[in-house]
Amino acid sequence: MPRTFWVETLGCPKNQVDSDKLTGTMLADGLVPAAAPETADLVVVNTCAFIEDARQESGDVILGLAERKPSGAELVVTGCLAERYGSDLAEALPEADAVAGFGVPVTLGPTGRGGSAPVPAFDLLNLPRPAPAAPWAYVKAAEGCDRACGFCAIPSFRGKQRSRSIASILAEVEDLAAGGVREVVLVAQDLASFGRDQGRGKRRIVPLVRAVARRVDRVRLLYLYPSDLTDELIDAVCATGVPYFDLSLQHASRSLLRRMRRWGDGDRFLRRIDDIRRRVPEAAFRSNFIVGYPGETEDDHDQLLSFVTRADLDWAGFFAYSEEQGTYAARLDGKVDAALVGERLAELGELQDGITARHRDVLIGSVVEVLVDAPGVARSHREAPEIDGVVSVPADLPVGELAKVMITGAAGPDLEAEAAA
Ligand code: SF4
Repeated sequence: MPRTFWVETLGCPKNQVDSDKLTGTMLADGLVPAAAPETADLVVVNTCAFIEDARQESGDVILGLAERKPSGAELVVTGCLAERYGSDLAEALPEADAVAGFGVPVTLGPTGRGGSAPVPAFDLLNLPRPAPAAPWAYVKAAEGCDRACGFCAIPSFRGKQRSRSIASILAEVEDLAAGGVREVVLVAQDLASFGRDQGRGKRRIVPLVRAVARRVDRVRLLYLYPSDLTDELIDAVCATGVPYFDLSLQHASRSLLRRMRRWGDGDRFLRRIDDIRRRVPEAAFRSNFIVGYPGETEDDHDQLLSFVTRADLDWAGFFAYSEEQGTYAARLDGKVDAALVGERLAELGELQDGITARHRDVLIGSVVEVLVDAPGVARSHREAPEIDGVVSVPADLPVGELAKVMITGAAGPDLEAEAAA
């Protein structure tokens, strides 16, 4: 009987790519997927350590799976939490047979191998992945980050940016396209800097986007640092037919952004956004913001409110600042009271919900092209998978088809549509 495995994935889309690759490796090793953790010989938890809540969730899921798995099955913890807390985590989690950060294999192979066995180097980025289950897929272009944002611990445990070769990315994209994928979502910690670590510091994101666009119908880019949003990159994105800009802005107050050790300010961001809208009026925008970063004043908060109003983004996420051990921000004074952070988050969330709803309402009556992800569920260029809203479409539209539909209604972030005549 082949050994069976179960993979549980927490955290962001980038983690899902890692899990896909782990799954691909285990399949190649002769393991087969289990129907549930209760019947698996090997249970892998791909954790997230982004903020305290995510760490807590990862811990809860590990302990839950430790109880659910059959006695004798192996439990392996990988992902950010394992990378960041390595041996401390292994000590704190006697339930786990192995705690393996990135760069080591977690598959124990058909014969099994203890957690303490020596492990060879392992390049997760370039591993094969299993056949796609949906007509879209994340593709990770690089790992690590060369920036030093004050709040972020990622560079300390993921290391410096390591970009893949364009050839290896394209080979993966071609395999995915052969398996029915029509939309590739490129991800990296700092995607616009892709390729800067290869050769003489030159970014390669534009040639990458163009090359991927020649192989699939849609290319979508997630996490663009605003200073790297060059005219050339904007043109390349618009030329793909998916004018969707996920800008990593984090705040609008110039002084607070400097305290975050980041580039830009609200006015600069607005100029860039207006510039894109002038070129492509139907461009869609998403961004994330941190609320309650140390030193955030009422004036900073007002600047962010004003920016959110003026930027009129389709989608925005607001997150409470989470103090990360060892980061620059952890040493800053001016901690913001949790109750005040809650009030600011509520105010921003309410403001953005209204803006998002307005963006959705104006689409009623228009015809848009959607990619059918699953029976009855589709997305236009305005919706990134798993992050934004969806378009409900007639259930008989074939999965994987690009179809024209007429928007007939809106419900919160989601739209309803019928087949266009
Ligand atoms: S660019 Fe992103 S991953 Fe890199 S340090 Fe800043 S927040 Fe962290």
